[in-house]
Amino acid sequence: MARVFSGIQPSGELHIGNYLGAVQNWVSLQNEHECFISIVDYHAITQEYEPAALETRTVEMAVGLIAAGIDPERSVLFVQSHVPEHTELAWVLTTVTPLGELERMTQFKDKSQRQESILAGLLNYPVLQAADILLYKAGLVPVGEDQVQHLELVREIARKWNTKFAPGFFPEPTAQLSGARRIIGLDGQAKMSKSLGNTIGILDEPDVVFERLRPAKTDPARVTRKDPGDPAKCNLFTLHQYFSPPAVVKEVDLKCRTAGWGCLDCKRVLADNIVSHFAPARERARELRASPDRIRKILKRGAEKARRVATQTMREVRDKMGLAA
Ligand code: SF4
Repeated sequence: MARVFSGIQPSGELHIGNYLGAVQNWVSLQNEHECFISIVDYHAITQEYEPAALETRTVEMAVGLIAAGIDPERSVLFVQSHVPEHTELAWVLTTVTPLGELERMTQFKDKSQRQESILAGLLNYPVLQAADILLYKAGLVPVGEDQVQHLELVREIARKWNTKFAPGFFPEPTAQLSGARRIIGLDGQAKMSKSLGNTIGILDEPDVVFERLRPAKTDPARVTRKDPGDPAKCNLFTLHQYFSPPAVVKEVDLKCRTAGWGCLDCKRVLADNIVSHFAPARERARELRASPDRIRKILKRGAEKARRVATQTMREVRDKMGLAA
């Protein structure tokens, strides 16, 4: 049974891209593995953010995760900043991480282009990721394709630290790519992301789901209702394949190709199927939001469990590095 580490930023909204691309997989992993799932607020502060909203976003992400099926009794669900050993190990790991490796990370290059003055936190982001994973000596890390490069760096950092201080101490984690899918947002272009405003939240109320879908991009060939389309060129057809029953997917395919209906009709059916798919999650979220103390207790208990492992790892790391006891 491999130990698994996964992290998600506290964007405040668990959207269907997070769900299909990651969380659905975590829900099944928790049946077979010991899973550590962290809401990574220290990562979130490497970009512009609203301090007054961060705590609410963190709690809302916890609500979303539990509503989506993460079971705090089976998985260790916690907030990254509640376990200070993450930043302590990150500092330690910066001492074995080559600067050039950090500078060549694709995500750093992309994100730093959007910053007027490039902050060290953004550069060191992958070192904190390495600490997140190595702190728990996780053997398996579910990642999307855009994170493969970071995981390779985590492996390299583990190797460098092991070579210098204690051979074999940190396992080199393996990427689990199979469950991770890249879900395109409603703009039909970029990966679904809260910051791009191209999402549907899994907890969105039924009318909101349709309102979000209404302006979504479809096959550009469907200029008028009479123009036939090609489902392969429409991102919403992909979503139908996830949320609509096979018979409906077939019907969508046919009606799209033959202009048997308009895109708005197609979106209405998709909205209904998304809404019914997440009805149990919305119900669970309603119950959780009604007792905020319960969520806080779950996160506190999760942090306690995580710290039991994290403090032991750091004790050993300090010892092997000759840091005074
Ligand atoms: S009919 Fe449906 S699948 Fe075809 S382009 Fe419109 S929204 Fe997309």
